[in-house]
Amino acid sequence: MDDRIPSWSRKKYNLGDLVKVKRQLRELGLHTVCESARCPNIGECFKKPTATFMILGDVCTRRCRFCAVTKGGPAPVDAGEPGRLAVAVEKLGLKHVVITSVTRDDLPDGGAGQFAAVIRVLREQFPTLIIEVLTPDFGGDEESLRLVITAGPHIFNHNLETVPRLYRTVRPQAVYERSLRVLRAAKDMDCRVSTKSGLMAGLGETESEVLAVMEDLRAVGCDLLTIGQYLRPMKENIEVSEYVRPEVFERYAEAGRKMGFIFVASAPFVRSSYNAEEVFAGINANA
Ligand code: SF4
Repeated sequence: MDDRIPSWSRKKYNLGDLVKVKRQLRELGLHTVCESARCPNIGECFKKPTATFMILGDVCTRRCRFCAVTKGGPAPVDAGEPGRLAVAVEKLGLKHVVITSVTRDDLPDGGAGQFAAVIRVLREQFPTLIIEVLTPDFGGDEESLRLVITAGPHIFNHNLETVPRLYRTVRPQAVYERSLRVLRAAKDMDCRVSTKSGLMAGLGETESEVLAVMEDLRAVGCDLLTIGQYLRPMKENIEVSEYVRPEVFERYAEAGRKMGFIFVASAPFVRSSYNAEEVFAGINANA
């Protein structure tokens, strides 16, 4: 454990809380980004229980330097995945589900068809379930994006992750403007869908760069924002440049509210789908 990590960025959890959910997930042949990304909140979330399901396998075609997900040649798309995911929602008694995936640049639709299939199965079987998708950029392909949006998620989430100056070092295969276009297009395709994005702090960005990204997100109609502290999942990943102080996260939250975001979750342990249910409740509370 990096002894530079300040108290506000340390979290302990009881491994026992994970066992039951992990066993259920393995029995169903499902992956979670919680496990693949080594999320510090896993103990808390699996205890609820809640989890962020990762479809389209656990091998990514991209090499983001902050990410612990395995990189390489992915497996073929699994047609049984939507059905098994529905069983997991039933077993865990979820009211809000988050579906994410690795990036599949190897597929013509970037995996959008599988997202749509999952959304449709869940909408059919659980009419009151809140469905949030956290997707890749589908290479900026609007027809792929349309497949996902027309399937009817309640929240469309696509992370910018960091500020444009750091893209080359942090997420070299992503394009800042392309990711903004994806969020804009999602809102244009269906204005009832809440759009959401997320940033990591502590990678070397300045406060004014983060505020500029927040302005860009508001300019494309983004409703919800998460900002959390980057923690290095493995020693192969990029180093933490700074453990950002809690008061800086509070300043971002305050600024975000003034910019018109419906809800901003900003604190060291905030992650894209951390407390997703509460974030969505924030919408209704503000409606
Ligand atoms: S695209 Fe997503 S899953 Fe793939 S390496 Fe980047 S962050 Fe990780």
